[in-house]
Amino acid sequence: MRTSYDAIVIGAGIHGCSVAMQLSMRKLRVLVIEKTYPGRHASGVNAGSVHHIPRLTPELPLAELTLRMWHDIGELVDGEDCGYRQVGHLRIAETEDDVAPMNGTAEGVARHCNIEEIHLDREALFDREPGLSRNVAAGIFSPECGYAQPARAVHAFRAKAERLGAVFLNETCVVGLRRSGPDWLVDTSAGPFDAPMVVNCAGAWGSEVASWVGDHVTLRTVALMMSVLAPMKPVMETVIGLTRRLLSIKQFENGTVVIGGGYRGTPDLVTGRTMLDYTRLGYNLRAATEVFPALAHGRVVRCWSGIEGISPDALPIIGPSASEDGIWHSFAYSTHGFYLGPAAGRVLAEAMTGERPAVSLEPFHIGRFNGCVANLERRRERASRSVGRSGGEQLKLLGQ
Ligand SMILES: Cc1cc2nc3c(=O)[nH]c(=O)nc-3n(C[C@H](O)[C@H](O)[C@H](O)COP(=O)(O)OP(=O)(O)OC[C@H]3O[C@@H](n4cnc5c(N)ncnc54)[C@H](O)[C@@H]3O)c2cc1C
Repeated sequence: MRTSYDAIVIGAGIHGCSVAMQLSMRKLRVLVIEKTYPGRHASGVNAGSVHHIPRLTPELPLAELTLRMWHDIGELVDGEDCGYRQVGHLRIAETEDDVAPMNGTAEGVARHCNIEEIHLDREALFDREPGLSRNVAAGIFSPECGYAQPARAVHAFRAKAERLGAVFLNETCVVGLRRSGPDWLVDTSAGPFDAPMVVNCAGAWGSEVASWVGDHVTLRTVALMMSVLAPMKPVMETVIGLTRRLLSIKQFENGTVVIGGGYRGTPDLVTGRTMLDYTRLGYNLRAATEVFPALAHGRVVRCWSGIEGISPDALPIIGPSASEDGIWHSFAYSTHGFYLGPAAGRVLAEAMTGERPAVSLEPFHIGRFNGCVANLERRRERASRSVGRSGGEQLKLLGQ
């Protein structure tokens, strides 16, 4: 196989596959290097929720773009709908005290983006979800949201990238990055490859890759846990979340019910394995049955967890390196990166190829963290001395 490419992507989760596809759509020759197989980690085992609440304000424009892309996902990936179903998302306040903060969040969304949200009082909640427990106060319904099938989405993006010429090298670990003239040499367990641009899509391992080029950020690594119940008669229609307790539930078309929401086991970044915490899984299941009593008749068939990296401000890191030209990041999706997959890949590819990104990447730049500030300052100075060179252009695209 060839060893020189236009861009090398490290990691084949949803973000590596998405940016590889978008770069291939722009006619770049792309190599994706994955240490296991595409979708092995968070991207293939997540809950598949596609919704924008609760999200931090800087992320809302990207959330709006990604929702529009999910609505037309079949067009993006040549007819594969990725199991996307626009069933809506219902966020529920269980007590009167929780209603005002919930409404405040919804007003924030209305101020910062154009995603429809409908306030539901108690009666309207039961009209929408008759199976709900009576111990609820009000809700916000987001009709534009829904869920997709994570593994199908990863493979749809990968398959389109491959059809456009991208090469995927699985079971190959990237172990270092070195400069070689204008290019980067990417050292791997299968030997070196080179390209002028390298994209770090290494998920929870992204901070290690970033540190190789001097971009230092500490991620909190977590193992989010999930359970699935055997197929049941219809219990709910929408994707459900609570405002106060950790709970997210959805029922797929085959009747299975997936329960998660943020309870954590123990991750091991070295082996890539996780350990479940059955006590906490019990809390999660109990909360589910308290909100939908019919779930008490369900049978748990499987529990699992996946590894995720959370950045210090819980926003993802997307955009150019603070330290080196030609290095780009897309990692630390902080427990909500699946739904951002379509848009993040697109805006990053736009920035990398000199287009103006549809959404500003400025809030996501790695230079916002202490470990990168000094390098960013040095780089800005260099860029101002060499206007028009790639580094200056990269920073200009960020509006910096
Ligand atoms: C249980 C669970 C439920 C979740 N539920 C949701 C949800 O409902 N909705 C939502 O939006 N988000 C959800 N998330 C978060 C979402 O799954 C992640 O944010 C997203 O998948 C991150 O994608 P990624 O491509 O950045 O990382 P990953 O999927 O982790 O991919 C990174 C890849 O990089 C590879 N890699 C790392 N280092 C190297 C190296 N040195 N060389 C080669 N390859 C390397 C890894 O093997 C891995 O395959 C959930 C996460 C989990 C764990």
